[in-house]
Amino acid sequence: MTTKGSDLASDAYLDDSTSFEALQLDPRLLQAIHRNGYHHPTLIQSHAIPLALQQKRDIIAKAATGSGKTLAYLIPVIQTILDCKKDESSELGSNKTLGIVLVPTKELASQVSTVLEQLTLYCSKDVKNLNASSDMSHAVLSSLLLESPEIIIATPAKLLSLLETNINAISLENLKFLVIDEVDLVLSFGYQDDLTKISEFLPLQKSLQTFLMSATLNDDIQDLKKRFCRSPAILKFNDDQITKDDSKLLQYYVKTTEFDKFLLCYVIFKLGLIKGKSLIFVNNIDRGYRLKLVLEQFGIKSCILNSELPANSRQHIVDQFNKNVYQLLIATDDTEYIREEDEEEKESEVSEDSKEVDGKNNNKKIKRLQVKKDKEYGVSRGVDFKNVACVLNFDLPTTAKSYVHRVGRTARAGKSGTAISFVVPLKEFGKHKPSMCPTAKRDEKILTRIIKQQSKLGLELQPYSFDNKQVEGFRYRLEDGFRAVTQVAVREARIKELKQELLASDKLKRHFEENPQELQSLRHDKELHPARVQQHLKRVPEYLLPDSVKQGKSKKIGFVPFHKPKKAHKKGKVQKRNGKSDPLKNFK
Ligand code: ADP
Ligand code: MG
Repeated sequence: MTTKGSDLASDAYLDDSTSFEALQLDPRLLQAIHRNGYHHPTLIQSHAIPLALQQKRDIIAKAATGSGKTLAYLIPVIQTILDCKKDESSELGSNKTLGIVLVPTKELASQVSTVLEQLTLYCSKDVKNLNASSDMSHAVLSSLLLESPEIIIATPAKLLSLLETNINAISLENLKFLVIDEVDLVLSFGYQDDLTKISEFLPLQKSLQTFLMSATLNDDIQDLKKRFCRSPAILKFNDDQITKDDSKLLQYYVKTTEFDKFLLCYVIFKLGLIKGKSLIFVNNIDRGYRLKLVLEQFGIKSCILNSELPANSRQHIVDQFNKNVYQLLIATDDTEYIREEDEEEKESEVSEDSKEVDGKNNNKKIKRLQVKKDKEYGVSRGVDFKNVACVLNFDLPTTAKSYVHRVGRTARAGKSGTAISFVVPLKEFGKHKPSMCPTAKRDEKILTRIIKQQSKLGLELQPYSFDNKQVEGFRYRLEDGFRAVTQVAVREARIKELKQELLASDKLKRHFEENPQELQSLRHDKELHPARVQQHLKRVPEYLLPDSVKQGKSKKIGFVPFHKPKKAHKKGKVQKRNGKSDPLKNFK
């Protein structure tokens, strides 16, 4: 496989027995597919595309993340539209929307829109698309709608507001395709009512085809199935296809205390124990800033992603991260859906826990640990982060399901990846207030579930322990650095970043269409500076460096922010000398 086409989670998904040529696609579409480096369809694509195009079936598909679902629905949508346009006799009004793709988050909307643009490169006149969920003013949106895009991508809420307010701008009379991507997430986000209302605008009895896609499907979609589908073909591709041999994901968990999470993080990133880009997940927004500020004390740069930031900035951050501008991204993943799994396990004290976080909503279908700032934010699902070497669960997620989605951000594209999860044992919980995270109370329980769930897939989480003697040397410095990051400092940083990003976002907004190049220089990992900056902490004194590093170019490593690629390379040499390829093991 070549270049771009190799971003699949695993080659095991490819269907070598057939080719895209065999799918009888429009030459312009086919050419674009090849241009992107795709040669064989994936299993879900080779099954879904003929069902949709030749048999005109509705489709409900469940296939693992990274199995190529996006193309599985976009190719039929584009092909159908091209067919319509060719067919002179069809009475298509010029301002009729032909395809709609609904997604749960703005991040996904923009990702789908990008893929769509690639696929319609040679037929962009016939198949125009509009990402209605990207941040733009009402005026801009209205004028873009006037160009009557054939495909509209939006979150359900956005589409509904368009339908209700711009009633003349969009006409769904001739709609051919409706796709709901990540459908279970769309439901968990509480879009059910929006969907019901949207369905009233649809020509459902006519020749509308629907696609419901997800990595996980459950009974909640029965209602949608009834509402949107006519005897759908149900495609299921089980995760079993990704077995131990295919998976290049190494999974570790580290039992540690609340404070030592920060200590280990400092050691890992200061000494460059992980080669390549890391994605760190924390469970609430403040913790993201706290961690960033603590790392900043030691000269370790990182970038923040959370639901509070403007959507434009978020997208820009993800894009830049994918282009390797940043090495360290701290993402807040603060919406968790605990009911499903809790019910499965029927643990009595779970309901107590949820009362703590959620008050009285026990009967509500879905429980949110936190009210989201932007309910259309979501990074642990669907977003195609590129080349992530390591996912660090700084805070363990609160469900096994969300673990799968988080660690699914690495080991994509048939590449290898590492997932490390910090786990706070119950007896350590609540011992150090400033560093504690409320969700850690259930860490051990969740870990048990995660291990069980992974073992069903034939995968394993290994315990990992750091060399205590080495780590201890850094404790004093970390304590010093940690103290400087007070709650006030965290608040200030949060506000400062928000202001910066709002400004940047405004700029982005104005220039997006005209001058995207100009904005490349906009960085999101600037230092936020807590109240007290201690320059001396940025260097690691020689006596703290592990022997393996000292023997090498010790002095330099002490100063170098870990993201300089050259140095990482040098560390690679150190590892080789030790005969170990696992960057973590090297620390011993
Ligand atoms: P999913 O929605 O199932 O999680 P995506 O549609 O996001 O998966 O695809 C995952 C990655 O696989 C993308 O980077 C995409 O470019 C790549 N991909 C999709 N189809 C193919 C294919 N036929 N051959 C090679 N790579 C593909
Ligand atoms: Mg997807």
